[in-house]
Amino acid sequence: MSRVSAVLLLMLSLAAMPAESGSSPDVSFSSDAMVRGGLILLSIQGCESDDLQVVWMEKEIPLLRGRDDGAWRGFIAADLNQKPGVYPVAVRVPSLEMERTFEIQVNDRDYGVRKIRLPRAKVDLDEASLKRVKTEARAVSALWKAECRPPEWEGSFWMPVNNKIVGPFGQRSIINRQERSLHTGVDIRGKTGSPVRATNAGTVVLAADHFFTGKSVFVDHGSCIFSMYFHLDQIRVEEGEQVEKGRILGSVGATGRATGPHLHWGVRISGARVNPLTLIELSRDLES
Ligand SMILES: [Zn+2]
Repeated sequence: MSRVSAVLLLMLSLAAMPAESGSSPDVSFSSDAMVRGGLILLSIQGCESDDLQVVWMEKEIPLLRGRDDGAWRGFIAADLNQKPGVYPVAVRVPSLEMERTFEIQVNDRDYGVRKIRLPRAKVDLDEASLKRVKTEARAVSALWKAECRPPEWEGSFWMPVNNKIVGPFGQRSIINRQERSLHTGVDIRGKTGSPVRATNAGTVVLAADHFFTGKSVFVDHGSCIFSMYFHLDQIRVEEGEQVEKGRILGSVGATGRATGPHLHWGVRISGARVNPLTLIELSRDLES
């Protein structure tokens, strides 16, 4: 090899290396697999460009920048009904001409079955109730269709009631011997009247008395993260109100279609219905 070409080769390899380690962001995931109804925390270190974009299930994932370490973080969520398979996550930084694709495995999971007996009027609805249910469902689904709002949440998410889980997430529900919907939240044990607290900061976007979910509060935490609190005895907040983490939203009750006093707590992230306990677990590390 001539001296000139050896130098050239060295220059080429030097040019390739620092460009990679110096400006290419470091992308990491809390796991490369999850179950349907699960969540993965994505972290991107060393990215100063604000045109960073993450796309999962054809939706842009909102990212929040850490105050201390400057890392961008976001949640990759798989809906409870997501078909098992391998799905891509695209990380793009147009200003750096960077695009990388990662593969995330979504696995099936048997969440089990729950059998419930309820008064017939709460299961086989008359015309008036059916009409009411449809109107309420429209009001709720409008929340998921709205654009993601700027983040109001910060750090870890808290349990709204510190008590045992009496109804696990994801179970198939057999009500009066008929197969009904999946259990899209967790049921937390509670006495009527005990306080229900906001899992994180956010804005109350819906506070109403609905046929199935009873007195219900929906909180938008920004970044397309929503939390829901159902069957409340009393609602203590108003629509449009901003709430701090831990703020009392209402009290435990048995309003709507409930077999007894408890809190049904649900979470939606970028439209996906996920296990709220996984959010608590994954967000624990975000506390600074
Ligand atoms: Zn429930």
